[in-house]
Formats: sequence, C-alpha cells, structure tokens
Amino acid sequence: MQRQRPRDTRAELVVRSLLHRLGRRFRVVNRDLPGSPDAANRRHRWAVFVHGCYWHQHPGCPRATVPRRNRDFWEAKFRANRERDERVEAQLTETGYAVVTVWECEVADEEALAERLRHEIPRRL
Ligand SMILES: [Zn+2]
Repeated sequence: MQRQRPRDTRAELVVRSLLHRLGRRFRVVNRDLPGSPDAANRRHRWAVFVHGCYWHQHPGCPRATVPRRNRDFWEAKFRANRERDERVEAQLTETGYAVVTVWECEVADEEALAERLRHEIPRRL
C-alpha cells in the first residue's frame, strides 16, 4: 500500500518525541502490521497512526476540505481512505491491539496530546 504523504511529517516527529517523553518504546517501521502504523509496540500491543486531516478527512476539522473541481472523484477517494482506516483499525483491534489515531491538527496542543497518549497507550512494566 502506497503512502499518500511524505514520511516523517512534523506531526509524526512530535508524536514520536511525546512517546519518548512518556517512556513508551516503539518502532516506526511496521510494514508487517495492518496499515503500517506510524509507531507500534508488538509486545505491549499498541499502534499509533498519525493522520493528515486532509487525506483522512478529520471530521469537523477546517483542514478537511474537499476540492471543488472533480468533487465526485475526491469524495470517492476520501471515502476509500476512511474505509481503509476503519478496516485497518478493526484488524488491529481484533488481534488485541490498542489503536490510537492522532490527527495532524492535534499536535498544536502538545500537552493535551501527551495527556491523551498517556491515557490511551497501555503501559506494562
Ligand atoms: Zn484536524
């Protein structure tokens, strides 16, 4: 599956640094897992996706615009992206993974995001 955005976006880098700060260990290359999560820990079974608000159409987000030209094409494309996201999340959840989706716009408030990650990512020592 081809990625639709460049690797190592600013949002991904922020999420990684927060995960480090929270003491969560992870890998960034996860091609063997459904959807190739942006960070994952197999032993503790959690996966994080960092989603661009535009490509993944963050509900209610001002960045989730649809181009006016070729609107049908884009709507179909975005719908396919969302459906794939849901499928991937279901596949991971079924195998016992905690799945956390971080939206690109969320990194604007790093403290709030750190708090969410701390709660949603299980920590087993
Ligand atoms: Zn957003």
